Amino acid sequence: MNNLLPTYNSYPICFTSGKGAILKDNSGKKYIDFLSGLGVNNLGYNNKKIIKEIRKASKNPLHVSNLFTIASQQQLAKKISDYSFYGSAFFCNSGAEGIESAIKFLLKYGFNRGIKKPIILSAKNSFHGRTIGALTATGQEKYQKFFKPLLASIQYFQFNDKKDLEKKFTQYKKRIVGVITEVVQGEGGIYPMQKDFFSLLKKLCKKNSALLIIDEVQSGCSRTGKFLAFQNYNKEVDGFVLAKSLAGGLPIGCLFVSDKHKNIFQPGDHASTFGGNPFVTQVALKVLEELNREEIFFAILQKSKWIKEQFQDREKYFIKEIRGIGLMLGIEFEKKISTNQIAEKCLQHGLIVNSIQDKIIRIIPPLVISLEELAKGTRILKKNILKQL
Ligand code: PLP
Repeated sequence: MNNLLPTYNSYPICFTSGKGAILKDNSGKKYIDFLSGLGVNNLGYNNKKIIKEIRKASKNPLHVSNLFTIASQQQLAKKISDYSFYGSAFFCNSGAEGIESAIKFLLKYGFNRGIKKPIILSAKNSFHGRTIGALTATGQEKYQKFFKPLLASIQYFQFNDKKDLEKKFTQYKKRIVGVITEVVQGEGGIYPMQKDFFSLLKKLCKKNSALLIIDEVQSGCSRTGKFLAFQNYNKEVDGFVLAKSLAGGLPIGCLFVSDKHKNIFQPGDHASTFGGNPFVTQVALKVLEELNREEIFFAILQKSKWIKEQFQDREKYFIKEIRGIGLMLGIEFEKKISTNQIAEKCLQHGLIVNSIQDKIIRIIPPLVISLEELAKGTRILKKNILKQL
């Protein structure tokens, strides 16, 4: 019994310390982490440089409000711009808030262009968060069903289905103010966007003056071996949303848009009390420096390849597909087995791994995980898959 609203089915495991990709619970049991606190702890636990920066930042005012200039916020926006393209940031506190910001941004863009009934397109099977706007953008009925009516301005296309995308653009034409999409669907099952689909999406957005905003909440912050997942596609986009790992575990969200669109939001259009406060943005600056390094990118791609190789023997494990980019991987099974049970059994054997959509094992470890830890974790995972078959 506790006094929390029962929104989570939490395991009765309480972690009290961690180092790198290893967590320890209050009984002293160690776990290899293939989950990163749902894609947040990209730099692992107890990272010395981040802890040092947190100590340093805690001596300055933690919060002053956005009525005043916040130097570290400006520096962080500049850094994100350096790592992506020239543009401007709005800071908030979570992924869902970043998506809400993107929705409002697109609606204001439509308003400025005199569009009376604006439409934002998002993908079926996507995940964008739980607030009402982000939930509407999340193209999964199971999350939406109790919370209707949702926003009328969001409509859906089938991810990676070019015909359906064309159909939606033909149906809504110039009413479409923008598209919000992941390039690797995360919670939906780790589905990377196909290259030709991305090209078509870009083309249709351009033709209809619709803005393309990428949800990089899970796929960003170097997870796929580039700072942003869309950078794997060599395509320009109009904006993106970051959150999760951006401040190394402190709450943060960010909408970033290209310079051309920097004046769409005007004073008073959007705000957040805590958004981009001095403490969180100073820490995020350090996190980004640590994340955006060539040797990290190189290691991510090596580790990714290594994991995929470990599951080459697909028939033995009844694997339909192992897919994903960098350290954002998913294993889907041919046979109807309980991936929830696999995840539970792995936990008992000291591996934290996540089951999504009841049929996919998601592997999103801290990017700094060692090859030895990966090997040990993979052995535990394989053993527990075999036990379920
Ligand atoms: N977008 C994506 C792609 C996500 O994976 C998530 C969360 O998992 C969100 C948005 C929502 O982020 P938050 O839980 O911080 O609101």
